[in-house]
Parts: sequence; C-alpha cells; structure tokens
Amino acid sequence: MGLCRHCGVGDCEAKFHECLDRDFSDRGFGAVHHLTVGAYMLQHNRYADGHERGVVEFVLRHLDRTPDERIKREIRRRVDGTQRVARRDRDAPPRRPRSGWSSSIADVDLTTADAYRTSVRAWAEAVARDLSRDQSPALRTATE
Ligand SMILES: [Zn+2]
Repeated sequence: MGLCRHCGVGDCEAKFHECLDRDFSDRGFGAVHHLTVGAYMLQHNRYADGHERGVVEFVLRHLDRTPDERIKREIRRRVDGTQRVARRDRDAPPRRPRSGWSSSIADVDLTTADAYRTSVRAWAEAVARDLSRDQSPALRTATE
C-alpha cells in the first residue's frame, strides 16, 4: 500500500472509515464528526474552489462546539457522504498548502472518545490553519 498523494499517510482512507464507524456508533466520538469529515475532505481536495474557504471557516468556528441541527443538515448536504469520498479520491490533484501539512489523520487517536475528540480537534485546526495561511487576510475574515 503506497502513501496517499494527498496527505502522505499509508491507507488513510481505511483510517477515515474507521473514524466514521466510531462517529456513528458512539456519541462520544460523534461529537466531532463534523471536524473529522471537514479535515479529511479539506486535506484531500474534495471541495470545489468556492467551497474550500467556507469549510475552513466552518471548521475553525466549530472546533469546540457541535453544530446545531440546521448546520448539520447543511454540512451533510454539502460535504458528507462516504460514497462521494471514495469516488473523488482519484480525480482531484493534491492540494498542498505552501507551508505543507502540519498534521494528518495519522495523528488521530481512536483509543478512547476523549483522546479521539482531542486529537481530531488538533488535526482539524491544523489543516484549516495550513490552508488559511494560503488565503489573503481579507478572505480569511469573510463570512460564508
Ligand atoms: Zn490521504
């Protein structure tokens, strides 16, 4: 198994699916589901150009809180769905921030719900900040 050309991790997709399984089966894990999906999809260039910035801002705004139901529906509509994940993987060229990625799904700790939430938050924040450094200051503060 080679290393992922997007994030540099071996078999990152299997780890992602393992995370999703835990998200859906355990509320303690599921509290950061929006971050797991957002970070993974951002790091694998699954968003159209116009959407990436909005997702980066969403992740940074929701690091410490679970989105309400309206926002959750919006996320599902825009970003969620493992089918789409698998299908787009081979299409999109790698999206590498100028500074490189400072974290990846390899840093996610699945041993306990607490460790998972902490490590997912750190990963998602790192990915969002890596990408936001590439954006202009004016764009960085824009709202969706
Ligand atoms: Zn990857």
